[in-house]
Amino acid sequence: MQINRSEALFKAAKEIFPGGVNSPVRAFRSVGGTPRFMEKGEGPHMWDADGNKYLDFCCSWGPLILGHSHSKVQSALEEGIKKGTTFGTPTAHGLELGELITKNNRFVEKIRFVNSGTEAVMSAVRLARGYSKKELVIKFDGCYHGHVDHLMVKAGSGLVTFGETSSAGVPQSFASKTLVLPLNDSDALRNAFKEHGENIACAIIEPIPANNGLLLQDASFLKELREQCSQHNSLLIFDEVISGFRVGFEGAAGHFNIKPDILTYGKVIGGGLPVGAYGASAEIMASVSPEGPVYQAGTLSANPLAMVAGAAQLSVCLEEGFYEGLAEKTKELVDSVNAYAAEKNYDFKMVNVASIFWLCFNKDEAIKQASQIDGEKMNYFKIMYHDLLEKGVYLGPSGYEVGFVSVAHSKEDLAWAAEQFKGSLDLAFGEN
Ligand SMILES: *Cc1c(COP(=O)(O)O)cnc(C)c1O
Repeated sequence: MQINRSEALFKAAKEIFPGGVNSPVRAFRSVGGTPRFMEKGEGPHMWDADGNKYLDFCCSWGPLILGHSHSKVQSALEEGIKKGTTFGTPTAHGLELGELITKNNRFVEKIRFVNSGTEAVMSAVRLARGYSKKELVIKFDGCYHGHVDHLMVKAGSGLVTFGETSSAGVPQSFASKTLVLPLNDSDALRNAFKEHGENIACAIIEPIPANNGLLLQDASFLKELREQCSQHNSLLIFDEVISGFRVGFEGAAGHFNIKPDILTYGKVIGGGLPVGAYGASAEIMASVSPEGPVYQAGTLSANPLAMVAGAAQLSVCLEEGFYEGLAEKTKELVDSVNAYAAEKNYDFKMVNVASIFWLCFNKDEAIKQASQIDGEKMNYFKIMYHDLLEKGVYLGPSGYEVGFVSVAHSKEDLAWAAEQFKGSLDLAFGEN
């Protein structure tokens, strides 16, 4: 595969951007090699600057649940752009997307649009603190919530522990407001609430953790988390930036039928444009300015183009059978690859929920905590990654990232992809 143009662009980009990129994982550091500069996308495919074609399982890290350049999203944008790009006023388009969500999602009574998942989380935590008038936040090791200062925190040593910062530039005093607990561990959770409950403003979790492998949680753990939060007047935040509108229109909250106090959204919600949102009951949202004392604002928030793209995408998601069809297609891919890996006795399985999958190099254990992932095994991923890329299968360039299937992926595309995965498994595990 010729990648001269990507190589030249990357060389130039390194002169302009730190690491040549505007978001770190794009730099290919964990798999090595040259990031592909993409130029065009259509349906499940995208083409790089050298004209190479890829079947895309990154889907822009999740937003593109309809695939690239979906006709309804494209025509909504074309119509919208004729009228202008931004007004800094309320628009009917924002209202339309807001209503589409609140009318079809039992967990959101009122919503506020922002411009990214990070911003949604940042605002949700501020709201939780403002509403509860408490300061501490619980987060879980292995969950990612964007680059919010007080959540760039990792577990320190000891059982119940305040975190250590996981990025330079985050003051230790911020980390001292955040408790970091292991996922899926009800004992650690109860202990943390027992010791600190009266100061805990909120617990934030990815109910379907999908940013550090796919760490599927026991429903009993999430229920325990709901109960502990309620008992201690702490708010439960479901960070549904990945899972929202992805595993179902009601996201993970609907999937588990657990009602969090605040939800955050991003990715799918914007139809490929930069949108985030946070939502809650009308009572909790009454704390947000201008109604209440929790300040939060945005020059380009609810940008009309982003709103029409989001509304176009989510309307398609609401069509009968949308999520069922997507889950079924994904399962065919996953089952096919898993049957092959089992037959060959490779230490591998694809873990999956709805249209999200993860390549897991551990066939026996159900991995539910970040600490269970063996970093050494990422060498297998690297081999598979480059083999797949060469064959025209595009995954996010890190073994800790999940893959996404869109409705644009046909059964034939997925059957073809399954064969490519099998070939790359043979290569990684030393056959062929
Ligand atoms: C992607 C993601 C974020 C951050 O969203 P950005 O739009 O990248 O700022 C936050 N939380 C979760 C769960 C995510 O998957």
